[in-house]
Amino acid sequence: MTQTVFTFGGNALHTNARQRDKTVTGGKGANLAEMASIGLPVPPGFTITTEECVSYLQHGADFSDGLKAAVAEALQHIEATVGKGFGDASDPLLVSVRSGARVSMPGMMDTVLNLGLNDETVEGLANASGDARFAWDSYRRFIQMYSDVVLGLDHGLFEEALEIAKEDKGYYADTEMEREDWQALVSQYKGIVDDELGRPFPQDVTEQLWGAIRAVFDSWDSDRAKVYRRLNDIPSDWGTAVNVQAMVFGNMGDTSATGVAFTRDPATGEKAYYGEYLINAQGEDVVAGIRTPQYLTKAAREAANAKQPSMEEAMPDAYAQLAHVFELLEKHYKDMQDIEFTVQQGTLWMLQTRSGKRTAKAALKMAVDMVGEGLIDEETAIARVDPMALDQLLHPTLDPDAPRDILTSGLPASPGAASGKIVLDADTAEQWAQRGEKVILVRVETSPEDIHGMHAAQGILTARGGMTSHAAVVARGMGRPCVSGASAVSIDRKAKTLRIGNRELKEGDTLTLDGANGQVMAGEVPTIEPELAGDFGTLMEWADKHRRMRVRTNAETPEDCRMARQFGAEGIGLCRTEHMFFDAGRISAVRQMILAEDEKGRRAALEKLLPEQRKDFREIFEVMAGLPCTIRLLDPPLHEFLPHADAEFEELANATGYGVDHLKRRADELHEFNPMLGHRGCRLGITYPEIYEMQARAIFEAACEVAKDSGEAPVPEIMIPLVATKRELELLKALVDKVAVQVFGETGCTLEYLVGTMIELPRAALMAGEIAEEGAFFSFGTNDLTQTTLGVSRDDSARFLNVYVDRGIFARDPFVSLDVDGVGQLVELAAERGRATRPDIKLGICGEHGGDPASIAFCEGVGLDYVSASPYRVPIARLAAAQAALN
Ligand code: ADP
Ligand code: MG
Ligand code: MG
Repeated sequence: MTQTVFTFGGNALHTNARQRDKTVTGGKGANLAEMASIGLPVPPGFTITTEECVSYLQHGADFSDGLKAAVAEALQHIEATVGKGFGDASDPLLVSVRSGARVSMPGMMDTVLNLGLNDETVEGLANASGDARFAWDSYRRFIQMYSDVVLGLDHGLFEEALEIAKEDKGYYADTEMEREDWQALVSQYKGIVDDELGRPFPQDVTEQLWGAIRAVFDSWDSDRAKVYRRLNDIPSDWGTAVNVQAMVFGNMGDTSATGVAFTRDPATGEKAYYGEYLINAQGEDVVAGIRTPQYLTKAAREAANAKQPSMEEAMPDAYAQLAHVFELLEKHYKDMQDIEFTVQQGTLWMLQTRSGKRTAKAALKMAVDMVGEGLIDEETAIARVDPMALDQLLHPTLDPDAPRDILTSGLPASPGAASGKIVLDADTAEQWAQRGEKVILVRVETSPEDIHGMHAAQGILTARGGMTSHAAVVARGMGRPCVSGASAVSIDRKAKTLRIGNRELKEGDTLTLDGANGQVMAGEVPTIEPELAGDFGTLMEWADKHRRMRVRTNAETPEDCRMARQFGAEGIGLCRTEHMFFDAGRISAVRQMILAEDEKGRRAALEKLLPEQRKDFREIFEVMAGLPCTIRLLDPPLHEFLPHADAEFEELANATGYGVDHLKRRADELHEFNPMLGHRGCRLGITYPEIYEMQARAIFEAACEVAKDSGEAPVPEIMIPLVATKRELELLKALVDKVAVQVFGETGCTLEYLVGTMIELPRAALMAGEIAEEGAFFSFGTNDLTQTTLGVSRDDSARFLNVYVDRGIFARDPFVSLDVDGVGQLVELAAERGRATRPDIKLGICGEHGGDPASIAFCEGVGLDYVSASPYRVPIARLAAAQAALN
């Protein structure tokens, strides 16, 4: 028989592994037992396992055989330890009933305190404690809580009755209520229960206990809990444990108190006790906001200029006990703890501990400090910091102390804070930015044509679109703060105004975005710069020491490359050349090339682009100073570059000499039904080799120039996109090699370079063995590989993917976190087959997944050589790669 109930406290000092296992006894239960076992003062109690909860729910809300007996026995343990009897009319034992899942989970049943009180035992409590006021106060609290959380009555009914009672007496605070007042209120409370339920408040203490246990189990399947689980990826089969624990009373006068505390400051990470407490109060009062809590330490009280004495000052003895416990807990858990305590008439009792939640900044500081203190080693420090949380630290953030005039909120699509003048289109954004203005680009949604405007802007705000909308993905890639899907925003492009709720703003007005929480604010809110040195630098150094995979960046502008290098990028994993084509000065030549009737026309236009591309690559090679640079040749379907507006067609007509009608007809001819599966990627290179020829030439000429000027020869890695067959790569590699020979001949300079391919089609993955005969490297383009393997269009998935995640079809959005089970197999297989042909083949991943810690862990497992992520994700990838290597 597996044990279903575990006791703790008193003489139940020895815990076994199952009791210390949070999956069995829940976080709260496991830690209560552990605290008791290291000798900390924990009121005795017992834990019913999560397994019992699962079984109860599976069996149609029926308790398993033997549970009643096990609980009765465990209850005796509490009675014997405390020396009181449950339901004993002369000196009753009271207990709390608390839920506790593996992870702390809002949505679960609220705690019931003072269970075991009834019309008789309340008198016993009054006599035994010598404090009738306290006894009746406890009883009314119990009825109120039990009625709310177990009987499902509206707590407002009880609060109202209390308010009226205080008003009648002319009281302001609960503490003014006398014994008779509480007693009268208890009668009223019982009346409310009777009226609402048609039956009296349960007087049988055993019935009370089982009612509460049942309510905890039932709450696992409450709507609140289900929503929370869905949002936080918590499986529904974990279940919750129930903790039943002897009450200790913080409401027994001025030598009693209750409080919450952290062993270090959870906001800054400072090694200073941090917390709040309330004198003469019970647990829930601190968080409920009924009274304003007081500071724990004298220093904190003074810093806040508060008058009410700190615990350190008001209860020095209890405070000393608490400080001692803090030290013991940190030594034991080797981490910052978040605790709940109660002082009953001068004696300290511990009611909860867990590793405390913390800001990214605090996480870093504590991890680094604790290594310094010898509490943990570097490996533990690396594991302790959530890579995604670093995001908070890498962008300028809004000064938390500055006032905010909040207009509305959208989705926190890309972190960071930005202020600037409102502009409503990409061209204006670019023009204003060129004259030195800071701008915020506000659009209904964005498209590839807006890239230059997004780049020029400090931040992007869209009225539509989700977390993976174009705006969100591109903004994250560029490191621009972005708030997307702010549906309260309506744009009038003609009038150049913006309406948000009842406020009207116009182009040129200043707006501030907080990409961390999605807030949109009027005016400028001051920001603070990120701190990349200090603790951040130290942790990154440790991470670099422990990781195997290299970390490169996805970048196509010198600024992004520079930024990425500051963040520690060791090369470029993906330079998308098409972004360079959208530049204002070039788009016209690009369009001429696309709309040309024949090769001659295309070559003429490409001639104009060549020097521009060469300049791009030159700048990038200079910044990257000899680090490897993977450059992808043109990939998107050509019509993405085509004009839409009449004015654009006219401009193009002027430039080319063709009539507008002719140009429109050509544009129509280029229309594709499924552009993502259409004339794109290497198919462009196969059909219009002159495009790739020009790009290859630009790359080699730039590389030769930089090699000559700086002496540091770049190693270009030329990447052919969307290859499905060996023959495609063979033809295009031959073309690149031919250009190389030409350029080397012309310049008298010879360089090392590689030609490789993206693996982004299932066929390419399957045929990787053959393709590796031609390609010196593979870069897994997991965005397209996901799209083509799942048959799900990235641009259209927003409409249904949320539902898919909600329904558990995908655990996470497969475009955000790699579908390891499915797409992962193709990656693994391609890596194996590629290596079998070419043992030294370079393997990497580009695409959004390269910055996602779970996907990075997968890449480590497959043994890829590097991951590539957008500049702001580089530190995240460095840390995640180290964690993966250490696992
Ligand atoms: P939550 O998970 O919401 O914090 P808890 O079960 O920890 O719920 O309890 C809520 C409050 O009740 C806390 O302040 C806790 O310290 C207090 N509390 C719980 N059990 C007892 C007890 N046996 N004696 C005194 N206070 C308690
Ligand atoms: Mg708690
Ligand atoms: Mg692709």
